[in-house]
Amino acid sequence: RGRSDNKTNTDRHSTHKDGKGNVLVSVRVRPDVGTSDGKQELEWEINGKRSLVSYKGREGGEYIYDNVFDTQDNNARVYDAAAKRLVRRVMEGYHGTVFAYGMTGTGKTFSMQGTATNPGVIPLAITDIFSYIRETPHREFLLRVSYLEIYNERIHDLLTGPVAAGLNGQPTQQEEIKLREDSKRGVYATPLKEEIVQSPTQLLRVIARGDNARRVAGTQFNARSSRSHAVVQIVVESRERAPGGLASLKENKRSAMAPGGVRVSTLSLIDLAGSEKAADNKERRTEGSHINKSLLTLGTVIARLSSDKDKAASDKDKDKPSKDQGKHLPYRDSKLTRLLQPALSGNSLVSILCTIQIGSSGSIAAAHSHTGETLNTLKFASRAKNNIISHAKKADESLGSGGDAGSRALLDRYRVEIQ
Ligand code: ADP
Ligand code: MG
Repeated sequence: RGRSDNKTNTDRHSTHKDGKGNVLVSVRVRPDVGTSDGKQELEWEINGKRSLVSYKGREGGEYIYDNVFDTQDNNARVYDAAAKRLVRRVMEGYHGTVFAYGMTGTGKTFSMQGTATNPGVIPLAITDIFSYIRETPHREFLLRVSYLEIYNERIHDLLTGPVAAGLNGQPTQQEEIKLREDSKRGVYATPLKEEIVQSPTQLLRVIARGDNARRVAGTQFNARSSRSHAVVQIVVESRERAPGGLASLKENKRSAMAPGGVRVSTLSLIDLAGSEKAADNKERRTEGSHINKSLLTLGTVIARLSSDKDKAASDKDKDKPSKDQGKHLPYRDSKLTRLLQPALSGNSLVSILCTIQIGSSGSIAAAHSHTGETLNTLKFASRAKNNIISHAKKADESLGSGGDAGSRALLDRYRVEIQ
C-alpha cells in the first residue's frame, strides 16, 4: 500500500525552526451513531495518537496529523491537546485562531461549544483565560468579546439582537458590516459590537446571547448553522501592573502611566459552515447558490499557500526575498478568508480541528457522499498542515491600541479584578 507523502511533509514542517507548534492540525473522529450493517468493508483505521490509515484504493495510505482523537476522547482531552497552549499564548500576547472544519453532523459545534457535562473549546478556553489572569498578578487585563456570523457572504453581528442576525437570512436594516484593516488591529469587522467582560460568567453569557440570536435568525437552525460561519473573538489587552498596586494607581495618575504600553492580542474561535458545500467537483459547482464561497476560497487559499511557500523557498535560494509573496492569494475573494488572512498568512498561532465520521450513519452527513467527504476533510487537513507556516510574534507593547489614552482609561476602569 502506498504511503501518502503526508508524513514527510508533516515531519519537515514540525521541525521548522520557529514554526514548531505554531500550527496544529488535528482530526477528530466522532462516534458512529448510525445503523452500521456490520458488513461494511474496513475503510479507515486509527493508528495511534497521530495517524489514520485509509484502505481506500488510490487514496489509500497513512495520514499523519498532530493529533487524531478517537471516539473515546472527550472535549477536555481535545482542548488540552489542540487548544490549551494556544489560548495561554494569546494571554501572553500572541494572536491565536482555532477553527473547526468538517461536514455537517461530524461534531464541529459539539467540539467548539460542547454540552453542559462535556464543555467544548469555547467554554474551556474561557475558564483558562481567567485562570491565567489569576496566575499572572503582575499584569492587568481587559477583555472584550464580539460574536459575528458570516452567512451568504454577509456579516451579521450576533450581539446586537436577534433581528440583526437577519430573520430567515433576509438582509436587515442593520448597517452593512465591513472588513477593514489597519496596522494596529489587523483585519477587523466594523461596525461590530464589542462587550467588555470581567468574569467567566459574563463572558459565557455574552456568547450564549450570540448563540441565541443565531438560533432565532434561522427558522431552520440546522440549515442555517450548516451554511454559516460563527466567529467568536476575544480581544485581550494587558499591561504591567503599576508598582504599589491598585492603590497607587488610583492615588497617582502618573503611576498609572508608568508601566509599559498595552499589549493587544486576539483569540478567534470559529465554527465553520459544513464543508460539504466546499467539495470541489463539477456536480457541486452546479448547485450554484448552495456553494459556500467563503469555504471554497478557504480551500483555494490553503492549497495555494504551498506554491507561495515554494516560491519563497526558491527565492531564498537565489538570495532574493520574495516581494510579492502572498499577493496573488485570493484572500479578498471571500469574507472568511479576508478575516482569516492574518492567521493564514503567518501572523497567528493556528489550530485546526477537522471533524469526520467514519462508518455509515443515519445523520445528515449520510445524505452526502460520505467517503468522499471524509477524504476531502482529510486532504484539507493535510494541506493545511503542510502549507500554513506561522511566524507569529508576541504583540509589541507599544503596538495595538496601547498608545492611546482611551485604552488605558478602559483598563483602569474595566480590568478584570482578581478574586
Ligand atoms: P456539526 O456542528 O459539525 O454539524 P454537531 O456538533 O452538531 O455537528 O454534531 C452532530 C450531532 O452529533 C450532535 O447531536 C452532537 O451532539 C453529536 N456529536 C458530534 N460529535 C460527537 C462526539 N464526539 N461525541 C458524542 N456526540 C457527538
Ligand atoms: Mg454545527
